[in-house]
Amino acid sequence: MSDVRNVIIIGSGPAGYTAALYTARASLKPLVFEGAVTAGGALMNTTEVENFPGFQDGIMGPELMDNMRAQSERFGAELIADDIVAVDLTGDIKTVTDTAGTVHRAKAVIVTTGSQHRKLGLPNEDALSGRGVSWCATCDGFFFKDQDIAVIGGGDTAMEEATFLSRFAKSVTIVHRRDTLRASKAMQERAFADPKIRFVWDSEVAEIQGDPKLAGLKLRNLKTGELSDLAVTGLFIAIGHDPRTELFKGQLVLDEEGYLKVDAPSTRTNLSGVFAAGDVVDHTYRQAITASGTGCSAALDAERFLAALA
Ligand code: FAD
Repeated sequence: MSDVRNVIIIGSGPAGYTAALYTARASLKPLVFEGAVTAGGALMNTTEVENFPGFQDGIMGPELMDNMRAQSERFGAELIADDIVAVDLTGDIKTVTDTAGTVHRAKAVIVTTGSQHRKLGLPNEDALSGRGVSWCATCDGFFFKDQDIAVIGGGDTAMEEATFLSRFAKSVTIVHRRDTLRASKAMQERAFADPKIRFVWDSEVAEIQGDPKLAGLKLRNLKTGELSDLAVTGLFIAIGHDPRTELFKGQLVLDEEGYLKVDAPSTRTNLSGVFAAGDVVDHTYRQAITASGTGCSAALDAERFLAALA
Protein backbone atom coordinates (compact mmCIF):
# COMPACT_ATOMS: atom_id res chain seq x y z
CA MET A 1 0.00 0.00 0.00
CA SER A 2 1.35 3.44 -0.96
CA ASP A 3 1.91 6.38 1.40
CA VAL A 4 -1.01 8.73 1.92
CA ARG A 5 -0.55 11.66 -0.50
CA ASN A 6 -1.98 15.10 0.04
CA VAL A 7 -3.79 15.18 -3.25
CA ILE A 8 -4.42 12.96 -6.25
CA ILE A 9 -5.69 14.46 -9.50
CA ILE A 10 -7.58 12.23 -11.94
CA GLY A 11 -7.41 13.65 -15.48
CA SER A 12 -4.89 15.65 -17.45
CA GLY A 13 -6.58 18.27 -19.60
CA PRO A 14 -6.33 22.01 -18.92
CA ALA A 15 -8.26 21.50 -15.65
CA GLY A 16 -6.02 18.69 -14.39
CA TYR A 17 -2.70 20.28 -15.31
CA THR A 18 -3.75 23.65 -13.87
CA ALA A 19 -4.83 21.98 -10.62
CA ALA A 20 -1.46 20.15 -10.67
CA LEU A 21 0.47 23.39 -11.21
CA TYR A 22 -1.26 25.19 -8.32
CA THR A 23 -1.08 22.29 -5.86
CA ALA A 24 2.56 21.65 -6.81
CA ARG A 25 3.47 25.30 -6.21
CA ALA A 26 1.72 25.01 -2.83
CA SER A 27 4.20 22.18 -2.03
CA LEU A 28 1.45 19.55 -1.91
CA LYS A 29 3.35 17.18 -4.27
CA PRO A 30 0.28 16.18 -6.32
CA LEU A 31 0.08 12.81 -8.03
CA VAL A 32 -1.67 13.13 -11.41
CA PHE A 33 -3.20 10.26 -13.36
CA GLU A 34 -3.17 11.53 -16.91
CA GLY A 35 -5.07 8.73 -18.63
CA ALA A 36 -3.50 5.86 -20.56
CA VAL A 37 -4.39 6.81 -24.12
CA THR A 38 -5.45 10.44 -24.10
CA ALA A 39 -2.96 12.12 -21.74
CA GLY A 40 -3.26 15.86 -22.31
CA GLY A 41 -7.01 15.84 -22.87
CA ALA A 42 -9.25 17.07 -25.65
CA LEU A 43 -6.83 19.63 -27.09
CA MET A 44 -4.43 16.85 -28.11
CA ASN A 45 -6.88 16.21 -30.96
CA THR A 46 -6.93 19.65 -32.43
CA THR A 47 -4.68 21.90 -34.45
CA GLU A 48 -4.56 25.67 -33.87
CA VAL A 49 -5.90 27.14 -30.61
CA GLU A 50 -6.39 30.88 -31.05
CA ASN A 51 -8.41 31.73 -27.96
CA PHE A 52 -6.19 30.71 -25.06
CA PRO A 53 -4.95 34.06 -23.69
CA GLY A 54 -1.22 34.69 -23.77
CA PHE A 55 -0.52 33.27 -27.23
CA GLN A 56 -0.86 36.21 -29.56
CA ASP A 57 -0.25 34.13 -32.70
CA GLY A 58 -2.16 31.08 -31.47
CA ILE A 59 -0.63 27.78 -30.46
CA MET A 60 -1.13 24.19 -31.58
CA GLY A 61 -3.32 22.22 -29.14
CA PRO A 62 -0.72 19.50 -28.35
CA GLU A 63 1.98 22.15 -27.82
CA LEU A 64 -0.24 24.05 -25.39
CA MET A 65 -0.84 20.86 -23.43
CA ASP A 66 2.86 19.90 -23.46
CA ASN A 67 3.62 23.34 -22.02
CA MET A 68 1.01 22.95 -19.27
CA ARG A 69 2.32 19.48 -18.46
CA ALA A 70 5.96 20.67 -18.26
CA GLN A 71 4.98 23.69 -16.18
CA SER A 72 3.27 21.48 -13.57
CA GLU A 73 6.24 19.08 -13.55
CA ARG A 74 8.66 21.94 -13.05
CA PHE A 75 7.10 22.56 -9.62
CA GLY A 76 7.09 18.91 -8.60
CA ALA A 77 3.84 17.39 -9.86
CA GLU A 78 4.24 13.64 -10.35
CA LEU A 79 2.57 12.53 -13.56
CA ILE A 80 1.56 8.98 -14.45
CA ALA A 81 0.13 8.16 -17.90
CA ASP A 82 -2.38 5.61 -16.66
CA ASP A 83 -6.12 5.32 -16.10
CA ILE A 84 -7.78 5.09 -12.74
CA VAL A 85 -10.20 2.18 -12.91
CA ALA A 86 -11.74 2.21 -9.42
CA VAL A 87 -12.17 4.74 -6.63
CA ASP A 88 -13.35 4.85 -3.04
CA LEU A 89 -13.83 8.50 -2.18
CA THR A 90 -16.13 8.15 0.81
CA GLY A 91 -13.70 7.95 3.75
CA ASP A 92 -11.20 10.43 5.16
CA ILE A 93 -8.48 8.60 3.22
CA LYS A 94 -9.53 8.25 -0.42
CA THR A 95 -8.24 5.41 -2.58
CA VAL A 96 -7.83 5.23 -6.35
CA THR A 97 -6.72 2.11 -8.23
CA ASP A 98 -4.67 2.11 -11.42
CA THR A 99 -4.78 -0.43 -14.27
CA ALA A 100 -2.06 -2.57 -12.64
CA GLY A 101 -4.27 -2.87 -9.55
CA THR A 102 -2.06 -0.63 -7.41
CA VAL A 103 -4.03 1.31 -4.83
CA HIS A 104 -3.00 4.95 -4.25
CA ARG A 105 -4.19 6.87 -1.22
CA ALA A 106 -4.76 10.58 -0.60
CA LYS A 107 -6.46 12.99 1.75
CA ALA A 108 -7.96 14.95 -1.15
CA VAL A 109 -8.91 14.08 -4.72
CA ILE A 110 -9.53 16.44 -7.63
CA VAL A 111 -11.58 14.99 -10.49
CA THR A 112 -10.88 16.50 -13.92
CA THR A 113 -11.82 13.66 -16.26
CA GLY A 114 -13.46 15.86 -18.90
CA SER A 115 -16.21 14.89 -21.29
CA GLN A 116 -16.20 13.06 -24.59
CA HIS A 117 -17.97 14.63 -27.56
CA ARG A 118 -20.22 12.14 -29.33
CA LYS A 119 -18.98 11.13 -32.72
CA LEU A 120 -20.81 10.10 -35.86
CA GLY A 121 -18.60 7.01 -35.98
CA LEU A 122 -17.58 7.47 -39.61
CA PRO A 123 -14.23 6.81 -41.27
CA ASN A 124 -12.33 10.08 -41.79
CA GLU A 125 -14.00 11.77 -38.80
CA ASP A 126 -10.91 11.65 -36.59
CA ALA A 127 -8.44 12.14 -39.45
CA LEU A 128 -10.18 15.38 -40.48
CA SER A 129 -10.63 16.69 -36.91
CA GLY A 130 -9.07 20.17 -36.96
CA ARG A 131 -9.01 19.98 -40.77
CA GLY A 132 -12.61 20.97 -41.38
CA VAL A 133 -14.31 18.71 -38.83
CA SER A 134 -15.04 20.31 -35.46
CA TRP A 135 -17.10 19.86 -32.32
CA CYS A 136 -16.93 23.44 -31.10
CA ALA A 137 -18.14 26.54 -32.96
CA THR A 138 -16.84 28.91 -30.30
CA CYS A 139 -13.38 27.36 -30.75
CA ASP A 140 -13.23 27.03 -34.53
CA GLY A 141 -15.98 29.16 -36.10
CA PHE A 142 -13.57 31.97 -36.90
CA PHE A 143 -11.58 29.66 -39.22
CA PHE A 144 -14.62 29.25 -41.49
CA LYS A 145 -15.23 32.82 -42.65
CA ASP A 146 -17.27 32.94 -45.89
CA GLN A 147 -17.36 29.17 -46.18
CA ASP A 148 -20.18 26.67 -46.55
CA ILE A 149 -20.70 24.75 -43.31
CA ALA A 150 -22.84 21.82 -42.17
CA VAL A 151 -24.05 21.40 -38.59
CA ILE A 152 -25.25 17.97 -37.51
CA GLY A 153 -27.89 17.72 -34.78
CA GLY A 154 -31.33 18.93 -33.78
CA GLY A 155 -30.98 20.06 -30.18
CA ASP A 156 -30.24 23.38 -28.52
CA THR A 157 -26.49 22.99 -28.99
CA ALA A 158 -26.85 22.41 -32.74
CA MET A 159 -29.10 25.49 -33.09
CA GLU A 160 -26.72 27.58 -31.00
CA GLU A 161 -23.72 26.43 -33.03
CA ALA A 162 -25.55 27.12 -36.31
CA THR A 163 -26.71 30.62 -35.38
CA PHE A 164 -23.24 31.46 -34.05
CA LEU A 165 -21.58 30.13 -37.23
CA SER A 166 -23.93 32.04 -39.51
CA ARG A 167 -22.12 35.23 -38.41
CA PHE A 168 -18.99 34.05 -40.25
CA ALA A 169 -20.19 31.53 -42.78
CA LYS A 170 -21.45 31.94 -46.31
CA SER A 171 -24.10 29.31 -45.55
CA VAL A 172 -25.00 26.90 -42.76
CA THR A 173 -26.88 23.67 -43.48
CA ILE A 174 -28.36 21.89 -40.49
CA VAL A 175 -28.66 18.15 -41.13
CA HIS A 176 -31.07 16.38 -38.79
CA ARG A 177 -32.20 12.75 -38.57
CA ARG A 178 -35.85 13.67 -37.98
CA ASP A 179 -38.35 16.13 -39.41
CA THR A 180 -38.73 18.08 -36.17
CA LEU A 181 -36.17 19.60 -33.82
CA ARG A 182 -35.55 18.79 -30.17
CA ALA A 183 -34.28 22.31 -29.55
CA SER A 184 -36.29 24.78 -27.46
CA LYS A 185 -38.84 26.88 -29.33
CA ALA A 186 -36.82 30.07 -28.95
CA MET A 187 -33.68 28.45 -30.38
CA GLN A 188 -35.66 26.94 -33.26
CA GLU A 189 -37.26 30.26 -34.12
CA ARG A 190 -33.90 31.99 -34.17
CA ALA A 191 -32.51 29.37 -36.54
CA PHE A 192 -35.59 29.40 -38.81
CA ALA A 193 -35.42 33.19 -39.06
CA ASP A 194 -31.74 33.23 -40.04
CA PRO A 195 -31.47 33.76 -43.82
CA LYS A 196 -28.09 31.96 -43.96
CA ILE A 197 -29.41 28.76 -42.34
CA ARG A 198 -31.21 26.00 -44.24
CA PHE A 199 -32.32 22.55 -43.10
CA VAL A 200 -31.94 19.07 -44.55
CA TRP A 201 -34.50 16.89 -42.74
CA ASP A 202 -34.69 13.13 -42.16
CA SER A 203 -31.06 12.75 -43.14
CA GLU A 204 -27.74 11.53 -41.79
CA VAL A 205 -24.13 11.82 -42.89
CA ALA A 206 -23.18 8.73 -44.86
CA GLU A 207 -19.64 9.79 -45.73
CA ILE A 208 -17.14 12.48 -44.77
CA GLN A 209 -14.99 13.26 -47.81
CA GLY A 210 -11.63 14.95 -48.32
CA ASP A 211 -7.89 14.46 -47.95
CA PRO A 212 -6.10 16.17 -46.27
CA LYS A 213 -8.98 18.61 -45.65
CA LEU A 214 -12.74 18.28 -45.58
CA ALA A 215 -14.16 18.67 -49.10
CA GLY A 216 -17.78 17.57 -48.73
CA LEU A 217 -20.36 15.18 -47.32
CA LYS A 218 -22.52 12.46 -48.72
CA LEU A 219 -25.95 12.55 -47.07
CA ARG A 220 -28.47 9.73 -46.83
CA ASN A 221 -32.20 10.41 -46.62
CA LEU A 222 -33.44 8.03 -43.93
CA LYS A 223 -36.95 7.81 -45.40
CA THR A 224 -36.08 7.21 -49.03
CA GLY A 225 -32.49 5.90 -48.78
CA GLU A 226 -31.51 8.42 -51.44
CA LEU A 227 -27.92 9.70 -51.38
CA SER A 228 -26.97 13.31 -52.13
CA ASP A 229 -23.81 15.42 -52.06
CA LEU A 230 -23.32 18.46 -49.87
CA ALA A 231 -20.29 20.59 -50.74
CA VAL A 232 -19.01 22.02 -47.46
CA THR A 233 -15.58 22.88 -46.09
CA GLY A 234 -16.74 22.87 -42.45
CA LEU A 235 -18.56 20.19 -40.49
CA PHE A 236 -19.69 20.86 -36.91
CA ILE A 237 -20.91 17.78 -35.08
CA ALA A 238 -23.34 18.79 -32.33
CA ILE A 239 -24.97 15.56 -31.20
CA GLY A 240 -23.98 15.76 -27.53
CA HIS A 241 -21.25 15.05 -25.01
CA ASP A 242 -20.77 12.27 -22.48
CA PRO A 243 -19.09 13.35 -19.25
CA ARG A 244 -16.56 10.77 -18.01
CA THR A 245 -18.29 10.06 -14.70
CA GLU A 246 -18.95 6.31 -14.83
CA LEU A 247 -16.24 5.72 -12.21
CA PHE A 248 -17.90 7.99 -9.67
CA LYS A 249 -21.51 6.78 -9.90
CA GLY A 250 -22.91 5.87 -6.50
CA GLN A 251 -20.35 8.05 -4.70
CA LEU A 252 -20.49 11.52 -6.24
CA VAL A 253 -23.77 13.23 -7.05
CA LEU A 254 -24.39 13.64 -10.79
CA ASP A 255 -26.90 15.90 -12.48
CA GLU A 256 -29.59 14.59 -14.83
CA GLU A 257 -27.17 14.69 -17.78
CA GLY A 258 -24.47 12.76 -15.89
CA TYR A 259 -22.14 15.68 -15.08
CA LEU A 260 -20.63 15.97 -11.58
CA LYS A 261 -22.47 18.36 -9.30
CA VAL A 262 -20.44 20.86 -7.30
CA ASP A 263 -21.36 23.43 -4.70
CA ALA A 264 -20.80 26.33 -7.13
CA PRO A 265 -19.03 28.72 -7.15
CA SER A 266 -16.75 26.35 -5.20
CA THR A 267 -15.56 23.06 -6.71
CA ARG A 268 -16.65 20.99 -3.69
CA THR A 269 -18.58 17.82 -4.49
CA ASN A 270 -20.97 16.11 -2.09
CA LEU A 271 -18.00 14.27 -0.49
CA SER A 272 -15.64 16.05 1.87
CA GLY A 273 -12.15 16.32 0.36
CA VAL A 274 -13.30 15.61 -3.20
CA PHE A 275 -13.32 18.42 -5.73
CA ALA A 276 -14.22 18.52 -9.42
CA ALA A 277 -13.37 20.91 -12.25
CA GLY A 278 -13.42 21.38 -16.01
CA ASP A 279 -15.73 19.82 -18.56
CA VAL A 280 -16.72 16.93 -16.26
CA VAL A 281 -18.72 19.58 -14.36
CA ASP A 282 -19.37 22.19 -17.02
CA HIS A 283 -21.86 21.65 -19.81
CA THR A 284 -22.26 25.33 -20.49
CA TYR A 285 -18.91 26.83 -21.44
CA ARG A 286 -16.62 23.90 -22.36
CA GLN A 287 -13.49 25.93 -23.10
CA ALA A 288 -9.85 25.33 -22.27
CA ILE A 289 -9.63 28.60 -20.36
CA THR A 290 -12.74 27.87 -18.28
CA ALA A 291 -11.42 24.35 -17.55
CA SER A 292 -8.10 25.86 -16.45
CA GLY A 293 -9.96 28.43 -14.37
CA THR A 294 -11.97 25.87 -12.44
CA GLY A 295 -8.87 23.63 -12.19
CA CYS A 296 -7.23 26.54 -10.36
CA SER A 297 -10.30 26.90 -8.11
CA ALA A 298 -10.21 23.17 -7.29
CA ALA A 299 -6.54 23.39 -6.33
CA LEU A 300 -7.23 26.34 -4.02
CA ASP A 301 -10.26 24.56 -2.52
CA ALA A 302 -8.12 21.43 -1.92
CA GLU A 303 -5.31 23.53 -0.39
CA ARG A 304 -7.75 25.15 2.04
CA PHE A 305 -9.32 21.80 2.88
CA LEU A 306 -5.90 20.28 3.64
CA ALA A 307 -4.82 23.31 5.67
CA ALA A 308 -7.92 22.95 7.83
CA LEU A 309 -7.02 19.30 8.54
CA ALA A 310 -3.55 20.19 9.76
P1 FAD B 1 -10.16 17.18 -21.04
O1 FAD B 1 -9.34 18.09 -21.84
O2 FAD B 1 -11.21 16.38 -21.71
O3 FAD B 1 -9.17 16.18 -20.26
C1 FAD B 1 -9.64 15.15 -19.46
C2 FAD B 1 -8.53 14.15 -19.28
O4 FAD B 1 -8.87 13.21 -18.26
C3 FAD B 1 -8.22 13.31 -20.52
O5 FAD B 1 -6.86 13.36 -20.76
C4 FAD B 1 -8.62 11.90 -20.13
O6 FAD B 1 -7.80 10.94 -20.68
C5 FAD B 1 -8.39 11.94 -18.63
N1 FAD B 1 -9.16 10.92 -17.96
C6 FAD B 1 -10.48 10.63 -18.10
N2 FAD B 1 -10.83 9.59 -17.32
C7 FAD B 1 -9.68 9.22 -16.66
C8 FAD B 1 -9.39 8.19 -15.74
N3 FAD B 1 -10.32 7.33 -15.31
N4 FAD B 1 -8.12 8.06 -15.29
C9 FAD B 1 -7.15 8.93 -15.70
N5 FAD B 1 -7.39 9.93 -16.59
C10 FAD B 1 -8.64 10.06 -17.06
N6 FAD B 1 -11.34 24.91 -26.24
C11 FAD B 1 -10.80 26.13 -26.40
O7 FAD B 1 -10.80 26.92 -25.45
N7 FAD B 1 -10.24 26.49 -27.59
C12 FAD B 1 -10.17 25.66 -28.66
O8 FAD B 1 -9.67 26.04 -29.73
C13 FAD B 1 -10.71 24.35 -28.51
N8 FAD B 1 -10.67 23.47 -29.53
C14 FAD B 1 -11.16 22.21 -29.34
C15 FAD B 1 -11.05 21.30 -30.37
C16 FAD B 1 -11.51 20.01 -30.20
C17 FAD B 1 -11.37 19.01 -31.33
C18 FAD B 1 -12.12 19.63 -28.98
C19 FAD B 1 -12.64 18.24 -28.77
C20 FAD B 1 -12.25 20.54 -27.95
C21 FAD B 1 -11.77 21.84 -28.11
N9 FAD B 1 -11.87 22.78 -27.11
C22 FAD B 1 -11.31 24.01 -27.25
C23 FAD B 1 -12.51 22.47 -25.83
C24 FAD B 1 -11.45 22.11 -24.79
O9 FAD B 1 -10.57 21.18 -25.35
C25 FAD B 1 -12.08 21.55 -23.53
O10 FAD B 1 -13.02 22.46 -23.02
C26 FAD B 1 -11.03 21.27 -22.46
O11 FAD B 1 -10.02 20.41 -22.95
C27 FAD B 1 -11.64 20.64 -21.23
O12 FAD B 1 -10.62 20.42 -20.32
P2 FAD B 1 -10.73 19.35 -19.15
O13 FAD B 1 -9.42 19.43 -18.44
O14 FAD B 1 -11.96 19.56 -18.37
O15 FAD B 1 -10.92 17.93 -19.86
